[in-house]
Amino acid sequence: MPANSQACAFCEIVAGRGAAHVVDEDALSLALLDINPFAEGHCLVVSKRHVPWWHDLSDDEIVSVFLMAKRVARRLGTAFSPEFVCMYARGRRIPHTHIFLVPTRNGDVLDGFFNAMERVQESQALLAGLKTPDALKSAAAKIRPAKR
Ligand SMILES: [Zn+2]
Repeated sequence: MPANSQACAFCEIVAGRGAAHVVDEDALSLALLDINPFAEGHCLVVSKRHVPWWHDLSDDEIVSVFLMAKRVARRLGTAFSPEFVCMYARGRRIPHTHIFLVPTRNGDVLDGFFNAMERVQESQALLAGLKTPDALKSAAAKIRPAKR
């Protein structure tokens, strides 16, 4: 697993050294086709800067990445007429922020994956302790901003 931008596939693409089907670009972000698509038109939006986790991007990078994701999702809607465009963010296998944009229809591969994951989320005994009223109250208290 590359730990820095020297060995990162997305940094190579951003630098113009890696092959990619780029579909949009601005000063801080790039959108390209995923080479292992879940569906026709499956795109990734990547930050140009090597940052593994999307929540560590700067505010300007966040604006760029998510506005680009919105623009590309709308074009995916026009081009492929999906039911909706699924979005999720990763940075683990390739430790460089990448937002997945997948044109999705009821019953397709990604829809089935998320339906299966949600069945696990709702039914597993392993997770039962996380959804008690006390556990939910405690988690919310940890997330809320500190009172001034
Ligand atoms: Zn990178």
